[in-house]
Amino acid sequence: MTEHDRTTGPAHTPAPSNAARILRLVHEDGPIARAEITRRTGLNRSTTLALVGELVELGLVHEGPPPAGSAGSGVGRPSPIVRASADVVAAAVTVEIDAVEVALVGLDGTVRRRQVEAQVRPPSAAEAVDVVARLLDQVRVTGAETTGAETTGAETTGAETTGTGTGPAPAPGQLRLVGVGVAVPGTVRAEDGSVQYAPHLGWHDEPFAAPLADRTGLPVRAANDANLGAWAERLAGSGRGVDDLVYLNGGASGIGGGVISGGRPLSGADGYAGELGHTFVAANGIRCHCGAVGCLETEASRDALTTVAGTAPDDLAALAGALAADDPATERVVDRQVDALATALRNAIHTVNPEVVVLGGFLGVLLDHVGDRIVTAVRAQSMAGTADRLRIVPAALGRDVLVHGAAEIGFRDLLRDPGTVTTAVATTTPTSDRDDAAEEARTP
Ligand SMILES: [Zn+2]
Repeated sequence: MTEHDRTTGPAHTPAPSNAARILRLVHEDGPIARAEITRRTGLNRSTTLALVGELVELGLVHEGPPPAGSAGSGVGRPSPIVRASADVVAAAVTVEIDAVEVALVGLDGTVRRRQVEAQVRPPSAAEAVDVVARLLDQVRVTGAETTGAETTGAETTGAETTGTGTGPAPAPGQLRLVGVGVAVPGTVRAEDGSVQYAPHLGWHDEPFAAPLADRTGLPVRAANDANLGAWAERLAGSGRGVDDLVYLNGGASGIGGGVISGGRPLSGADGYAGELGHTFVAANGIRCHCGAVGCLETEASRDALTTVAGTAPDDLAALAGALAADDPATERVVDRQVDALATALRNAIHTVNPEVVVLGGFLGVLLDHVGDRIVTAVRAQSMAGTADRLRIVPAALGRDVLVHGAAEIGFRDLLRDPGTVTTAVATTTPTSDRDDAAEEARTP
């Protein structure tokens, strides 16, 4: 978790302006009635009216009529509905060992466009910067009319342009790109967004965010993928509204973890907190690439499970189908992996006392297969009371979890200060402003 992510939490300092509080509320919980904004923020009605008006003026939110048949709160006219703009977008970047993806995600959470480029081998950091910059160029330009075959994203929309706004209120349908967020399968240093170690990509101490900011002229934030996944599941997935949450995702790059504590992402001194995949679960375990023995990610491994189940490593539906057959050899691997997972969760529970554990990737498939066995095993080895309220649930956001998590850090500056960033938005495209934007990106 980077320093940047800490500020995605609701309680960052300095205190956000009331306009920022409203924008965050609409972004995270909207569409929402204006009367509900007044109630949730504790502001008075005329203040809410004025601030929502400012945000409308800036093009960040829209007001619409209440739903048909709505009786409002019972007094007077029904309150207008406030929604975040789908045209204000962040670029969400995911760098995986076999693919690089850039998606433009609206402030309302919709994925507007995406470009994916398969990689024949894990890209170096410099290659990844090149690929991201190229995909970003493709995804920013006008849609199908001018890009033709280059625009392969299934969700690419029609004739829109991006990032060419000349004032706070752009033409309808014009996308405004406010920042870039990158999800990295590795540890990302809080201080500068550089990648400390991404084992499956083979990256060591790579200054990733700064060169990408230089190349694109946009503010760039980078963070560990599972930490972003945890935040995304809290905002829009299985952990919605939960303040104390542990997230574990099992994928091609092992098991990533993220922790939300007291409503804020747990970062640690350098930004490396939450690496639950490398917590100790087996004394006679397998040697991990991290150098240790018996890590959760070596004892509960997707490839070990799919190998015995006879399914393709990335086909989770096929894995679920194979597990349902209850083959004895497969079940022995399932039992070992469930034990390893329960041990890791026991440790996490005694450390951070979560209300909910969210399991993604193949761990979600494992959970669906064994049901309450995991929570029962965790409770059996937990101190009385510590796991009474614990729920263990599958992740809800599927393959787009990292897209939504990365977009959140792309929106960070906007959510912190709607006015300033919106002014900057219109000036990020001309090359003359690139140095300023890059400098800004390096100065969290
Ligand atoms: Zn390890």
